[in-house]
Amino acid sequence: MAQHDQQLDTLVERIRAARRLTVLTGAGVSAASGVPTFRGTDGLWRQHRAADLATPQAFARNPRLVWEWYAWRREIVARCRPNRAHEVLAGWTMRNPHCRLVTQNVDDLHVRAGSQRLVRLHGSIWELSCWEGCAPSPRTWRDERVPLPDALPACPSCGGLARPAVVWFGESLERDDVEAALEATACDVFLTVGTSAVVYPAAGLLDDARRQGAFTGEINLEDTSASSSVDVAIRGAAEDVLGAIEAAL
Ligand code: NAD
Ligand code: ZN
Repeated sequence: MAQHDQQLDTLVERIRAARRLTVLTGAGVSAASGVPTFRGTDGLWRQHRAADLATPQAFARNPRLVWEWYAWRREIVARCRPNRAHEVLAGWTMRNPHCRLVTQNVDDLHVRAGSQRLVRLHGSIWELSCWEGCAPSPRTWRDERVPLPDALPACPSCGGLARPAVVWFGESLERDDVEAALEATACDVFLTVGTSAVVYPAAGLLDDARRQGAFTGEINLEDTSASSSVDVAIRGAAEDVLGAIEAAL
């Protein structure tokens, strides 16, 4: 406990002194809100594993199945509320114009908490894009209907099939988002919260920040592959630890 307190004090001091603060978040930040993760039994839907549904191949094979899974997730997320972790982070971005958030979450709970300067590396389940990628269609458009109607969502430009505007396994990230995330690694303090930090480019962002001289910290319930390389690793729930940091700032 004493060790934990000391690490927390160090992190609070660094955050207080930081001008440029960047926070990378993952599914762990939304866990307390009740958003299912992709891991364990939480990641199962009608016997399907999340990793088998969130692919362009799965959508090509059976768009209705994949859309039903997204419709189910949208209904769950629509009932979820941002938790203390989202609130604290949103507050930092409102008070500090040099505070940036980079998230792998697609639930938009950071958006609903009022976060500024947010990069959504993996897109949003509340946005759609044209499956055919037709030229006249907007890159993405907002669709917050819950529940979704029986007919599969269509592209407003070509009338063809629309897809969730999220980055699926095997797909590349939007270039603008990657650039914005890379830019955000030029900071004084880089904090990674509630992410296993194994997927590209999350792990790389932390390394980039460190190379550029940032103080690095991790908040997670468990040890991750990043734990041994950060300056402070704090074991605990994002909502509790961020709440404690905010109270101490
Ligand atoms: P992950 O499932 O790989 O890792 C989640 C991490 O959060 C774990 O390390 C776990 O120990 C930690 N964690 C769980 N509860 C926590 C809490 N209360 N406080 C702090 N840490 C906690 O998730 P990931 O790293 O974000 O990557 C998974 C991929 O799945 C992402 O690409 C993302 O797009 C997608 N995904 C998104 C959501 C969402 O939008 N909420 C949910 C599930 C999956
Ligand atoms: Zn189209």
